[in-house]
Amino acid sequence: MIDAATIFELENRHGSGAYGKRPTALVKGQGVYLWDANGNRYLDAASGQGVAALGHCHPAVVEAIHAQASQLITAQEAFYNDRRAELYTLLASLTPGDLDQFFLCNSGAEAIEGALKVAMLLTGRAGIVAAKRSFHGRTTGALSMTWTPKYRKPFMGWLPAVAHVAYNNIDEARAAITTETAAVVVEPVQGEGGVHPASPAYLQALRQLCDETGTMLVVDEIQTGFGRTGSMFGFEQARILPDIMALGKAIAGGLPMGAVCWRSAHGQIPRASHGSTFGGNPLVCTAAIAAVSTVRDLQLPEHVCKVGAWLIDELRAANLRGAREVRGRGLMIGIELRGRVTPTLKALQERGVLALPAGLTTLRLLPPLIITRDELAIARDAIIEVLG
Ligand SMILES: *Cc1c(COP(=O)(O)O)cnc(C)c1O
Repeated sequence: MIDAATIFELENRHGSGAYGKRPTALVKGQGVYLWDANGNRYLDAASGQGVAALGHCHPAVVEAIHAQASQLITAQEAFYNDRRAELYTLLASLTPGDLDQFFLCNSGAEAIEGALKVAMLLTGRAGIVAAKRSFHGRTTGALSMTWTPKYRKPFMGWLPAVAHVAYNNIDEARAAITTETAAVVVEPVQGEGGVHPASPAYLQALRQLCDETGTMLVVDEIQTGFGRTGSMFGFEQARILPDIMALGKAIAGGLPMGAVCWRSAHGQIPRASHGSTFGGNPLVCTAAIAAVSTVRDLQLPEHVCKVGAWLIDELRAANLRGAREVRGRGLMIGIELRGRVTPTLKALQERGVLALPAGLTTLRLLPPLIITRDELAIARDAIIEVLG
């Protein structure tokens, strides 16, 4: 294996420059742990941005990929495929109501792009309402909805207009949503924007405003989906049914996949109105079947609900000197710091815990959903040591 210094040098020389990088080369993962090229072990409280819901190299996912890799890797959507059909059935069994139509793609941003197209196709309208502090991805359509001005600014001349309204503010939503609006796009818990949960009343009000105006309510469940917030999907805690849902991140156990999901009551979209070369390929569908059915069979949403509430209580009870607030749902937890997050991330990594930022001053924890209370206590102790 090439050594860490060589890995850094090669990546720095040939990489795009788009990523701020930590001086650590991850080379191996097992369960909730990761190892770097120097053999150091870390407790992973980041899950590759919420992807590794089952931890790393979960045997169910590894075996499924292994078996399908020698059966059939690629098959375009112009043909039917057994694994794709199975995945549809599985997803439809887990999504509430008639959220039973799916378009399979390869990333979260693509799922958002697809959701926008579906909303426009189903309504014949073009207006989009999104929230301030939102994150929906980096491709140009998704980027136009992503709030962070820094991400959008260089492309402003080319991005479609989107109305951004304050999150959790029903009056601003009411003023922005009209009979010209195709879609209102919302995260049940804002992730990258700082881990801010939507109030159930807010999501219920959006549902009602969409009903009144014939607008599609699109929930971005890319980060919150598949148990992360303590229910299979984040919106379920507000007891609403969205029209369209975007899925990604954890859906295929670490392989790249996104999905757009919408209510059958709205019908299918016109022939040739959308497409994807890799979308719905048998290898990734097989990984998704393994990953999603394991989340269900291990009852991870229930587990997450319990251990997440426990960790939030523990962190609040610790009265961390370096923190203003601890917030979140399930295992999507944000600690609002009194200063910048980067030194805290570094100090945690020195203590063997990998965490994430969410904006400049929020520490974000997205551990694998299979994590035990004892393993979470390791993260808690490191956080108390650094911020206590
Ligand atoms: C990560 C994320 C996206 C973008 O997903 P990519 O796979 O990086 O394109 C969109 N929305 C939310 C809420 C996310 O967390």
